[in-house]
Amino acid sequence: MTAFSFTVEKTAGAARAGVFTTPHGAVESPAFMPVGTQATVKALDPADLRAMRAQVILSNAYHLHLRPGDELVRQMGGLHRFMGWDGPILTDSGGFQVFSLANLRTVEEEGVEFQSHLDGSKRHFSPESVMRIERNLGADVIMQFDHVIPGQSDEPSARDATERSLRWLERCRVAFEQLGQIGGSDLNPYPEQTLFPVVQGGIHGALRRASATRAAEIGDWKGYGIGGLSVGESKPDMYVILEVMHDTLPKDRPRYLMGVGFPEDLIEGVRRGVDLFDCVAPTRMGRNGAVFTSEGRLNIKRSELRADPRPLDERCSCPCCTRFSRAYVRHLFTSDEILGLRLLSLHNVHFLVTLMHDARAAIRDGRFDGWSRAWLERYFANSSPLTTEATP
Ligand SMILES: [Zn+2]
Repeated sequence: MTAFSFTVEKTAGAARAGVFTTPHGAVESPAFMPVGTQATVKALDPADLRAMRAQVILSNAYHLHLRPGDELVRQMGGLHRFMGWDGPILTDSGGFQVFSLANLRTVEEEGVEFQSHLDGSKRHFSPESVMRIERNLGADVIMQFDHVIPGQSDEPSARDATERSLRWLERCRVAFEQLGQIGGSDLNPYPEQTLFPVVQGGIHGALRRASATRAAEIGDWKGYGIGGLSVGESKPDMYVILEVMHDTLPKDRPRYLMGVGFPEDLIEGVRRGVDLFDCVAPTRMGRNGAVFTSEGRLNIKRSELRADPRPLDERCSCPCCTRFSRAYVRHLFTSDEILGLRLLSLHNVHFLVTLMHDARAAIRDGRFDGWSRAWLERYFANSSPLTTEATP
């Protein structure tokens, strides 16, 4: 008996419109998952996320383990209750964060030693300890602990990390099942969760294929993470790997492309069979004054916007664009007003969530190809594609 299932309702080439069911509700895909690293999508209330039709949010095991501590989150009834979000939640394992801490770690087969970025204290992550952390946090979907490497790693280092990630997947599976049998405590049992493997292999197609095939032999997973992309490789390299993944991963399971979240990447990902995305870009960029619009990126700091009466994006229906002008948002931003940061985050997250709802509607209506081409053409009319950016 499981509360997790995935149904593909309609396809358009490799693109899929699906429904991923979890214990906290269904996720219509393709979907963008806003990131709440510290158990909050920065500057946004869960009510804002509901209002913009966000369906599932992501949080992070590394950050919550360090502060406030996964045991505390568990004592407070788990992540859903702690942060006041009753929809589906996914937690990242912290692999990406730990492996981004250059010079602060030793990697061994057993696990990884690192220093907390908060107080320098020495910490250790292993597949077993990360499963305990993610069990304590209680998200619906939890990710395996994996060995993350830079995007342009050569074949031998990518192979080494991929094989280690597969060995760690097996250990994660065993630990996850054992913890499920222990069941937490009578007062606060572990909730129903599912574990996703993370397919690695860098930009090496054969490694990616082997990683996906071997992951599928280790367990009957309800979905798959595609890791190690958007970490410095070129966009064409990423797209080729996504095509390899589409051909290799089971068609009846959702695919989650980890940490990828620029508008063009979402559309190109959907076109290549990806169902779920997450990225800190919309909130992080918002705090830097960068705005996604349907006609490309806009920098709110630009002086030409000083007296611009138009909304950030005339096609957007978010609470910022329906009420405020570029001139006002620019004024708030340049005055360091909290509302300015909040409005930019609200708009950027709304933009990506809505983009995926629109993509889904286009797939269902049989017009995805034309819709996606027209969308990208308009988006790039005034700008050019950028290389992928790492987003720890
Ligand atoms: Zn807007």
